Amino acid sequence: MHFDAIVIGAGFAGLYQLHALRDRLGLKVRVLEAGGDLGGTWYWNRYPGARCDSESHAYRYFFSRELANEWQSSERYPGPPEIRAYLGHVAEKFDLRRDMRFDTRVTAAHYDEAQNLWRIETARGEKFSATYLITAVGCISAANVPDLPGLKDFRGKWYHTGEWPHEGVDFRGKRVGQIGTGSTGIQAAPVIAETAGHLTVFQRTANYSVPARNAPLTPEFQRWVKDNYEEIRGIAQTTVNGHAFRISERKVGDVTPEEREAIYRAAWDYGGLQFRATFFDLLTDRAANSTAAEFVKARIRSVVKDPATAENLADIDHPYSAKRPPIDSDYFETFNRPNVALVNLRKDPIERVTATGIRTKSGEHPLDIIVFATGFDAMTGTLFKIDIQGRAGKRLREYWKGGPQTYLGLQMPGFPNLFTITGPGSPSVLTNMPVAIEQHVEWITDCIAHLRKHGIRTIEPAEESVKSWGEHVQECARATLLYDAKHSWYFGTNVEGKPQVFMPYSGGLHRYRKLCWEIAAKGYEGFVMDRSRAAAPAQFAAIAAPGV
Ligand code: NAP
Repeated sequence: MHFDAIVIGAGFAGLYQLHALRDRLGLKVRVLEAGGDLGGTWYWNRYPGARCDSESHAYRYFFSRELANEWQSSERYPGPPEIRAYLGHVAEKFDLRRDMRFDTRVTAAHYDEAQNLWRIETARGEKFSATYLITAVGCISAANVPDLPGLKDFRGKWYHTGEWPHEGVDFRGKRVGQIGTGSTGIQAAPVIAETAGHLTVFQRTANYSVPARNAPLTPEFQRWVKDNYEEIRGIAQTTVNGHAFRISERKVGDVTPEEREAIYRAAWDYGGLQFRATFFDLLTDRAANSTAAEFVKARIRSVVKDPATAENLADIDHPYSAKRPPIDSDYFETFNRPNVALVNLRKDPIERVTATGIRTKSGEHPLDIIVFATGFDAMTGTLFKIDIQGRAGKRLREYWKGGPQTYLGLQMPGFPNLFTITGPGSPSVLTNMPVAIEQHVEWITDCIAHLRKHGIRTIEPAEESVKSWGEHVQECARATLLYDAKHSWYFGTNVEGKPQVFMPYSGGLHRYRKLCWEIAAKGYEGFVMDRSRAAAPAQFAAIAAPGV
C-alpha cells in the first residue's frame, strides 16, 4: 500500500505528525506502531512509581487552544494513565485512530531510488511504501538489560522497567533486587518498598535527586493554567529547555552564602526540576555547580539515618545536573525503612546472577524478583532496531558506527525524505519533550509543504552541513558541565560497545528553534534538494484540494 507519508510511532510525536500532514497538508498518511495502543514511552513505561518529571501544565501540546481548554490535569506531574488518557483524547478529537495501525513493528525501511520512495516492511511481513518517512520512535525506548553472567539461570522473575507487564507485578512479601538508580530507579524504589518483603537497591553511580512534591492540582491552579495558556506556552517555547519556568539570570556569585542557601532551600521545598533553574551558571561553572551539589548532598545526609548508607548515597562523582537530574517522592527516605538495603556496587561489585539471587563480592543477596532500572540504548538504539537503508543500500547503522551524524537532528545525507523527530543532534532529551516534538513536527510539515509546492523530489542535507553541525553540537556540549559527566547515556557510555559521542544538542531549544526557521527561510540552507523531476502532479493536486 502506498502513502504520501509513513510515520513510525504513536506517541506525542507520531500523533501530532499525523494530524499535521493529513489535516493541514491533505496528505495520505499512515502511522505504524509496535505497541498495542498509542502512548509511545507511556505505553511501555508502567513500572511502579512511573510519573512524568515535567509538570502537567507544560507536558502537553500547545498547538491547539481548544485542546488546552478541554483538558484538565489532575496532579502536578501526570502519571502514565493520565498521559495515555490525554493522548487518547487528542486522537479522538482529531480522529487520528483511523490512520494508525498498532501491533505493527517496522523492521526495515529501504529507499528505492528509481521510484523515489521508501519501502517499509513490518515484523508480520506487511509491505508499505511512502514518499516521506518520518521516525517518531522516541529517544529512550530501546531497553538496556545488562548482560550479567548467570541471568539465564535465575529461577525468579526479572523485568526491565521500560517493558513493564501491563498486568503489573505483585511484590507482596517478595525479596526484590533493583539494579539502577537513574530517574526510573529513583521513582520505582519507594513504591516497590511499600509492598515488597525486602528491597535491595544495587547502586553503581550515586545520584542527585530533588523532591518532586507531587500533589493534586487545586481548582484555582487549574483555572490559572487555562487563563494563562498563552503566557505558559510563550515561556515553554522561549526557554532553553521547553519547560514553563524561566531560568534565573543571577549567578551563584551574585548572592551571599546565606542568600544562596535560602534560595536552594526554597527551591528544595517547592520541588521539581526548577531547582536547576535557581542560578544561571549552574551548568557552566564548576564552582557554582558545587554549591548546588553540596546542598543536595547535605540534604541526603540529613534525611538518611544510617550514616554508612547516607555516605554511599551522597558519594556522587559528577556535577549536579550533568547527568539527567531525577526528581523523587521519598527516595532517600526509603532507605530509613527496615525492609530496604543499599549495596554500593563501586565497593561491592556484582559477580554474577545465581539461580536464587545476585552474588556480589561480599556474598549472596537472595532474591525472588530482579528489577532492571538500567536505562536505555538511548537516541540511536530504537532507530537501529529498524534496518534503515538509504540511497545505494547505505545503512544507517554503518553510517553512524562512529556515533550519530545528522543535520539539526532532522536528516542524514543519503537518506532522502527521511526525517527523524527529536533525532540525535537536536535538543530532544535535554528538554520538556512535547515542546521539542511540536517544533520538529511543524518544521517537517512546513518542509514537506515546501517540497510539494515547488515540485521538489527529495531533500537531504549536504555532507558539509552534517560535519559542521556535528562540530557545533560537540562545541555546545563542551561549553557545559554535561561534558564532564562522561559516564552518561548522553554519551552512550551506558551501553557496551556504543561509540562515545555526546548526542543531544545543548545549545538551547530557543536558539535551536530560531536557527531551524532561519535555515528554512533561507531556502533550506545546508540541504540538497533534487528538482530534476517534479513531484507527481496528482499528489500535488491532492494538497491543493479545496478546503485544505
Ligand atoms: P539511566 O538514567 O540510564 O539509569 C540507569 C541506571 O542503571 C544507572 O544508575 C546505571 O548506573 C544503572 N546501570 C546500568 N547498567 C548497569 C549495570 N550493568 N550494573 C549496575 N548498574 C547499572 O536510565 P533511567 O533511569 O531509565 O532513565 C533514563 C532516562 O529516561 C532519564 O534520564 C530520563 O530522561 C528518562 N526518564 C524520565 C522519567 C520522567 O520523566 N519521569 C522517568 C524515568 C526516566 P550508571 O549510572 O553507573 O551507569
